[in-house]
Amino acid sequence: MLRVFVEICRYPLGMTGGQIQDEDISASSQWSESTAARFGRLDFDNGDGDGAWCPDIMSELDGVKEYLQVDLRTLHFITLVGTQGRHADGMGNEFAQRYMIKYSRDGSNWVGWHDRKGRQVIEGNRNAYDVVLKDLEPPIIARFVRFMPVTDHSMIVCMRVELYGCEWLDGLVSYSIPDGHQMIYRGLDVYFNDSVYDGASGLGQLTDGTWGLDDFLHSPIYSMSPGYDYVGWSNKSFPKGYVEMIFEFDHVRNFTSMKVHCNNMFSRGVRMFRQATCYFRSGPDWEADPVTLRPTVDRVSQIARFVTVPLGDRTASLIKCRFHFSDLWMLFSEVAFQSGSAVYNTSLTPRDDPTHKVDDSNTRILIGCLVAIIAILLTIIVIILWRQVWQKMLEKASRRMLDDELTAHLAIQTQAFSLNHSSLSSEGGSTSNSTYERIFPLCADYQEPSRLIRKLPEFAQSTEHLGSCTSSRALAVGASDSAPHYAEADIISLQESSDSSTYSITAVNMNLFAGTDSSMKEFPRHKLTFKEKLGEGQFGEVHLCEAEGMQDFLDEVLSIEGNNESPLLVAVKTLREDANKNARNDFLKEIRIMSRLRDPNIVRLLAVCVDTDPLCMITEYMENGDLNQFLCILRLKEITLFFFSVYSTLSYSKLIEMAVQIASGMKYLSSLNFVHRDLATRNCLVGKNYTIKIADFGMSRNLYRGDYYRIQGRAILPIRWMSWESILLGKFTMASDVWAFGVTLWEILTLCKEQPYSHLSDEQVIENTGEFFRDQGKQVYLPKPPCCPERVYTDLMLSCWRRNAKQRPSFQEMHTQLMESLV
Ligand code: AMP
Repeated sequence: MLRVFVEICRYPLGMTGGQIQDEDISASSQWSESTAARFGRLDFDNGDGDGAWCPDIMSELDGVKEYLQVDLRTLHFITLVGTQGRHADGMGNEFAQRYMIKYSRDGSNWVGWHDRKGRQVIEGNRNAYDVVLKDLEPPIIARFVRFMPVTDHSMIVCMRVELYGCEWLDGLVSYSIPDGHQMIYRGLDVYFNDSVYDGASGLGQLTDGTWGLDDFLHSPIYSMSPGYDYVGWSNKSFPKGYVEMIFEFDHVRNFTSMKVHCNNMFSRGVRMFRQATCYFRSGPDWEADPVTLRPTVDRVSQIARFVTVPLGDRTASLIKCRFHFSDLWMLFSEVAFQSGSAVYNTSLTPRDDPTHKVDDSNTRILIGCLVAIIAILLTIIVIILWRQVWQKMLEKASRRMLDDELTAHLAIQTQAFSLNHSSLSSEGGSTSNSTYERIFPLCADYQEPSRLIRKLPEFAQSTEHLGSCTSSRALAVGASDSAPHYAEADIISLQESSDSSTYSITAVNMNLFAGTDSSMKEFPRHKLTFKEKLGEGQFGEVHLCEAEGMQDFLDEVLSIEGNNESPLLVAVKTLREDANKNARNDFLKEIRIMSRLRDPNIVRLLAVCVDTDPLCMITEYMENGDLNQFLCILRLKEITLFFFSVYSTLSYSKLIEMAVQIASGMKYLSSLNFVHRDLATRNCLVGKNYTIKIADFGMSRNLYRGDYYRIQGRAILPIRWMSWESILLGKFTMASDVWAFGVTLWEILTLCKEQPYSHLSDEQVIENTGEFFRDQGKQVYLPKPPCCPERVYTDLMLSCWRRNAKQRPSFQEMHTQLMESLV
């Protein structure tokens, strides 16, 4: 009963219902247009679960704590918050496991919310689907609220939120009162401080909607310390015999009354006030004539009660009240104001209060008109809704027909996890052999692989186990078409299939990045002289250039040790001219990622040219190109030497030294919790003296569907390097990088003679991934390279491909192990 207001005041404030306008929802950053703040609305019906606010994780590195901000336009009493993740109907898996809340009444002073025990972090969502509601204990009174996800940097967060409460018609924006005192009652410490007071001039327990019990030693809030609900003062400390409080309001109001909830446990020296004198101020000075109430002090009942102080319709924006002691102690737990006809808290208002009678015939006419308008609007809404429902039913029916068709089709397919591409695509005369086109012809742009996997016998249950992830991504693989560039041959094409958000777990430890000088200097473009083309990547071409004055341009930290050549040779990666906005953003994001990495085994970004187009990043030049090409050339040399009966120059230890360097670079990345997601020999560069540096952070930035890379309409994924959980669950972690390292090590020790699992088609690779998932001993591992010692194969390489990601070694361990294998 004592918390009636908190219990009643729980209305959704308009994120879900749309009453809160888009322009009132903002954020510190957004990853892309499709994850802007305005999409951060909680969706109870779950809809398609798409759209959510997702921050740009990289901006956290700049010291900005990410937040989604809601402006409620007026002060609200907020008792509850709801959060939800983004599942995009099975394609997304982002949510905030924990978050914090900040709020403000004026938009400039921000207060971090904490619970009654001082804990700031709120446990949020456990999956991308469910709405999790959290009572705010204590509630907050605010106009602006910020949701701030707390990440462990192992996953991207997306949030959809709702606030619940009611408008704070009280208008009180702050109060200042003397500090509460400590009572010692029969050896028990009883603290009467305002423990949730929220700032220098803030609000606290007197406005938290919770009223203390008759016995102040007990609290209606479970497990709080004695006296918790009351703010109280000892008469001894106030020689004038009264406690003065000042209440500040949002604007000048016409006050009818004030209600003060007082304890009256006189058997313990506590009694309600004997006099309240209130002064009013709406201009610069306090008005001379106060309002005074001398209530009859109750010497019979010890019940805590609200005492109403009539304020005589006085206008003010500030009220100063003096409450006079009538005993040793005075304890208050709540103060509420009524002004004008606005009564926020009906439970505090006697029904027969004459000040609230509505006796105006004009008002009745107005109400009549409003009712008529509302009735008309309701009719229109019902008609619109009916039409939409009808349309949806039609749509569903047609989808169901397609699904049924597919189920039937799959039933004819092999019972197991086998894929026969041509047969799946043969119906309908489609020229493409993509599975997806069969399933969702209604939505060519965005496909849902999870539906397909549910249709497969073994995955019918396991999809649940897999959670919300796109477990059947694998099944959606389209055979790669034409003879691709070697790197493209290493990766598989997905027909418009990837919700890249499930491939989005780029972990970045911002603390470690914080403080690093990440500003990248703009290099004068005219000082670059083209020498030759080094290669071509997703973004465009990579050129070898001379950079005049680069050594002077670089500060000490950046300068390339031991290289005083001038002009300096650099590699210049240029964004192709016809790149779309997403590619452009991603190019800039790759720059931001690289600018923060400093390690001898990570390729260094030296400068950028981003002031004008085409965008360029200038990296150190690695004379021997990428490791894949390098090893291929070495192998050819070996064959030639063998042919001429010349001893091999290449030793096993040279190869392991290369692997050691990659492990070292990865160790650095893992210390930052940074997941590379595309570790392979093709993405390592070779400098002088077999120096290896990890490059290509392209994959680590492909976070969202909208941002996903498409080459001729195809999203690409390096499936032969990917762990089973990356393919089936879209989970990228350090452990999946470890998996890729195992494959990279295999590539090195086989001198890149062939692609990993070259005897398997793309579909069979995916099938094999299914075997890893099923764990029935049918999975195929890459074979031991001939030059690889048994111990390195079993202890190291195979351990990288353990099903349980937790059982895979760390880069630290592998680095040590590889070093040891050298001696
Ligand atoms: P990327 O777009 O990063 O995949 O680069 C495409 C190709 O350009 C690589 O496979 C390398 O052969 C070459 N390349 C890229 N960066 C460098 C560099 N810093 N030094 C030498 N060659 C490079």
